[in-house]
Amino acid sequence: MGRSLIEKSKEHLWLPFTQMKDYDEHPLIIESGDGIKLKDINGKEYYDGFSSVWLNVHGHRKKELDEAIIKQLGKIAHSTLLGMTNVPATELAEALIKISPEKLTRVFYSDSGAEAMEIALKMAFQYWKNIGRPEKQTFISMRNGYHGDTIGAVSVGSIELFHDVYGPLMFDSFKAHVPYVYRSESGDPDECRDECLAELEQLLMEHHREIAALSIESMVQGASGMIVMPEGFLSGVRKLCTTYDVLMIVDEVATGFGRTGKMFACEHESVQPDLMAAGKGITGGYLPIAVTFATEEIYSAFYDDYEKQKTFFHGHSYTGNQLGCAVAIENLRLFESENIVTQVAEKSKVLYSLLQDLNTLPHVGDIRQLGFMCGIELVQSKETKLAYPSDWRVGYQVSLKMRELGMLTRPLGDVVAFLPPLASTVEELEAMVSIIKQAIDKVTSREF
Ligand code: PLP
Repeated sequence: MGRSLIEKSKEHLWLPFTQMKDYDEHPLIIESGDGIKLKDINGKEYYDGFSSVWLNVHGHRKKELDEAIIKQLGKIAHSTLLGMTNVPATELAEALIKISPEKLTRVFYSDSGAEAMEIALKMAFQYWKNIGRPEKQTFISMRNGYHGDTIGAVSVGSIELFHDVYGPLMFDSFKAHVPYVYRSESGDPDECRDECLAELEQLLMEHHREIAALSIESMVQGASGMIVMPEGFLSGVRKLCTTYDVLMIVDEVATGFGRTGKMFACEHESVQPDLMAAGKGITGGYLPIAVTFATEEIYSAFYDDYEKQKTFFHGHSYTGNQLGCAVAIENLRLFESENIVTQVAEKSKVLYSLLQDLNTLPHVGDIRQLGFMCGIELVQSKETKLAYPSDWRVGYQVSLKMRELGMLTRPLGDVVAFLPPLASTVEELEAMVSIIKQAIDKVTSREF
């Protein structure tokens, strides 16, 4: 007998966002998936309560998606997009533009959400150079923001735990607050929104001449704890960007493709971004395709004779991969034929009622939700909102308990993130919320 898979994983793998000492204590190897469940190598089944990191739409092994890849394989797996295109990349571009906010007319492909954001930042930077305003060189980014893990994306990110260590490598950007109503002094969404918008306006008044763009997650700050923006905030930011002539980069990597009950979350506030990054759900959770959308105005600023040096010199080896684009096209077709976005909007009302039941638990401080994007903030004291000491790792303990009870998700500190696949049925949602409740109850009622 050779070494077990678990031994091999412990010997050779280095996993993302993972303290490997934790992995060694609690190893897990997934072997297969079906519908919204995953199965490990020992045959234990788990609900995919985080959509395999926020991207699964129709469940695993969706027949139509499997077949789209097989069909494309019969033609070609990959050819480059440098200086040429391919059939599915071209067709997907048209399909994407049809469903995206009206002013976005161009798509630039990449392989991950972080890259889609890097591209948006570089496009914004070069746009101003290309139109003869090179003084606009810096950015405004949001506190508690997260846009991925490459250095540009980290530079406009602001989550202490993930980002501080790379401080010396980052470029500077001005930071503005996004309302975090639960943790605000007043606890009043309108007041909190107005304060943040006033702070942002001050920043723009003082610095707009040097600012190329503002980057912001759309409607929900995901990685920092599913912080849902109060009504009127994102549209308020849009207005300020327009007034002060600053491009607005909206990050829809987590929120796009139906996750919040709209195809793109900025539709909740009729916001038209200048640049928009998307990824994750674009292929239904099958293959790594991401995309940066741009307006025609931005695209036109790069379009000229070669000698004018306005070309956007950016690209990746696998950009526009045919297999990924083919499955994305089928995914979008299923969005329409299975009415996914409306279904999510409807089912999220049921999910809202289910989640309210968690309020009966003594350590559930706040429940936040937009569509199928939910965060349950655990606190030591509900009355004072006192957070647990971070080294108690309560969120992590809850996720391990959920694993034991048959559901996978990853905590965001002491926020339990719940992002079920968009095709989850009401019965499945009930079963998953019941596991969350049991796990929180069991962990938070014990002595630490
Ligand atoms: N932007 C947001 C808002 C995200 O939530 C994420 C990932 O969770 C990213 C960007 C990075 O995407 P990727 O992991 O595909 O690089």
